[in-house]
Amino acid sequence: AGPDFNEHVLHKTILVGDSGVGKTSLLVQFDQGKFIPGSFSATVGIGFTVSTGWHCQLCTWIWDTAGQERFRSVTHAYYRDAQALLLLYDITNKASFDNIRAWLTEIHEYAQRDVVIMLLGNKADMSSERVIRSEDGETLAREYGVPFLETSAKTGMNVELAFLAIAKELKYRA
Ligand code: GDP
Ligand code: MG
Repeated sequence: AGPDFNEHVLHKTILVGDSGVGKTSLLVQFDQGKFIPGSFSATVGIGFTVSTGWHCQLCTWIWDTAGQERFRSVTHAYYRDAQALLLLYDITNKASFDNIRAWLTEIHEYAQRDVVIMLLGNKADMSSERVIRSEDGETLAREYGVPFLETSAKTGMNVELAFLAIAKELKYRA
């Protein structure tokens, strides 16, 4: 039998957000401390969440997802046993920011009540192409009562901090 995520011993963390916001890149940066340019979307193109394995440091399994609309129904099932969600948008992509409300609505519908959520504005290194101000991210996060950070999977800015913040929150609840 596989691990029982409902035991609250093994945690499950899922990366969610529109396709292209940098979910896979963020995870690669966290795991390997490097940025591999180019899209990884193809590797998870089937739309299922992919377990990237047990992250000892964080005491959590991390699952990456493909965020395409048409795969939404597939991901619903995965929310149910998640203890934590890293919700990403891209600061250079307004649609990805606007869609955060839809993601949160869905999360509130399908995830556990006490799921730990963190909002991340990724690609913070792309300042010249920024269309979403930090304040907008902060305001949205405050509205939903979730913590917020801007990150860069490219430079590594706040990447470790984001994952560690989630881990810390999970430990308190263990
Ligand atoms: P996913 O679909 O959410 O998993 O997004 P990917 O990780 O595949 O990234 C989509 C594209 O954005 C790729 O071309 C990445 O190289 C690029 N990218 C991801 N994160 C960053 C970042 O923080 N800064 C910059 N400049 N590019 C990024
Ligand atoms: Mg991806």
